Amino acid sequence: MIQRAFLSVSDRTGLLALAERLSRRGVELVASSGTAAHLQAAGIPATDVEALTGYPPLLGGRLKTLHPAVHGAILARPDDPVHRAELEGHGIRPFQLVVVNLYPFREALERSRDLAAWVEEIDVGGVALIRAAAKNHAHVLVVVDPADYPAVIEALEGEADEAAWAELRRRFAVKAFRRTAFYDALIARALAHAYGLEALPDVWVAAYERVAALRYGENPHQEAAYYRDPLAGPEALVRFVQHQGKALSYNNIQDAQAALALVRRFEAPAAVAVKHMNPCGAGVGETVEEAFERAYAADPVSIFGGIVAVNRPLSAALADRLKGLFLEVIVAPSAEPEALRILAAKKNVRVLTLPEEGGVRPAAFSRTAPDRFGALVPEAVTTSGGLLVQTPDAGDDDPAAFRVVTRRAPTEAEWRALRFAWEVVRFVKSNAIVLAREGMTVGIGAGQMSRVGAVKIAVQAAGERARGAVMASDAFFPMPDSIEVAAAAGVTAVIHPGGSIRDDEVIAAADRAGMAMVVTGVRHFRH
Ligand code: 5GP
Repeated sequence: MIQRAFLSVSDRTGLLALAERLSRRGVELVASSGTAAHLQAAGIPATDVEALTGYPPLLGGRLKTLHPAVHGAILARPDDPVHRAELEGHGIRPFQLVVVNLYPFREALERSRDLAAWVEEIDVGGVALIRAAAKNHAHVLVVVDPADYPAVIEALEGEADEAAWAELRRRFAVKAFRRTAFYDALIARALAHAYGLEALPDVWVAAYERVAALRYGENPHQEAAYYRDPLAGPEALVRFVQHQGKALSYNNIQDAQAALALVRRFEAPAAVAVKHMNPCGAGVGETVEEAFERAYAADPVSIFGGIVAVNRPLSAALADRLKGLFLEVIVAPSAEPEALRILAAKKNVRVLTLPEEGGVRPAAFSRTAPDRFGALVPEAVTTSGGLLVQTPDAGDDDPAAFRVVTRRAPTEAEWRALRFAWEVVRFVKSNAIVLAREGMTVGIGAGQMSRVGAVKIAVQAAGERARGAVMASDAFFPMPDSIEVAAAAGVTAVIHPGGSIRDDEVIAAADRAGMAMVVTGVRHFRH
């Protein structure tokens, strides 16, 4: 039975409805001063905590509720005679309900860049109240979210039995610790940012919030959920606007991410089609429509059921073209209203664009999607019992460091194709081989266990188009065999990181075939 409740909230949403119900049922309300004044102003009887502690809020509110008269009343176990005797000795009566929500620290990050303003929004006593009540959840119900008030009211008015109350106490205690953990992780991350300290990985990984449960994971028998970085910038996929289509699936999100990561790298109009997290076609052109035709022509078979991303506003003409294909997701920085009207006929395709910022929808993606602090968002994968976190492979390679290692240097046209292929290959799963002509891929070998295997697949996919194409490899060639296969298919120039102990043999094979070869010194594995 709840006889006495302590309330201390910054977000007053739903407070009066809850307090009024409690009061009507004879529950005695004690509150921190602002909350008490709010209740009293609404005609709800409440005792200011000052009456218990003998202190007004001190230090501009930094110190309000940290007092044995408050914490003793929350932490005591009523079934423990020693606890009971101590409370009685000090005239303390226990609380059975604690309702707290914290200083809006996260909002302070959104509102201000001023560290001093952030620091003032670090809640101290509220966190202590929550943790004390959650620790003593065998006896105390802690409520940290106004969205949970209706459940409390329902339990009160439905005369819930002790088992139901106990279930609520356990559930809300878990939520309470999640809340304080999240809150502190966010503070740690903000301070690490403010002081230029290493933000990777421990203070970074904890501060995620759940966006939605997904219907299932990679396969229907796997459960899945989508989490958002609360500091995600507007260009993070998780903040995109979905105009139509079914909810994004686990695979959709991964594939859309892969498509977006590649297409945003290009300055010229570009389009990319992705299947199972590998590009199956990429194109650049004078217009986004031309870029798309190249990405399509690169592999008109694999695009079926794929994800298409473009780096220019989705035009009506392109929408009309895409309408004729079976696609899962279309991603663009923005879309012409007419394009959206055209695609509305294809109910199932999910169309994603950037959110508006200050009433304006950005016309283009940036090359990276930084968080709201402007920092690169690290990548993480779970491992057995842990997380691996790394900075994304999002940097620009320095073309001045590229070295021609063959007798023949690439022609201008070969250089353009090599740079394009080099940009694409880092987004292909390793071992990755990309065959390309100027502005379009013609054959992609992805995720192979041997490099020569990836070359053979790319050559086969390219068919006749391998003749005169260039080749990019995400890592060095361990043997000259890959070069021999490519040369036999008519490939004329190659770009790769170099660094194999057999580099000399690899270069010799290229020279024998009259190929031009460039080494970059940078590897772009993607697993
Ligand atoms: P009120 O508006 O009632 O005066 O203050 C409510 C807020 O103060 C709540 O967000 C609560 O978490 C926070 N709070 C309660 N006690 C303390 C304290 O001792 N120190 C600090 N910094 N915040 C507190």
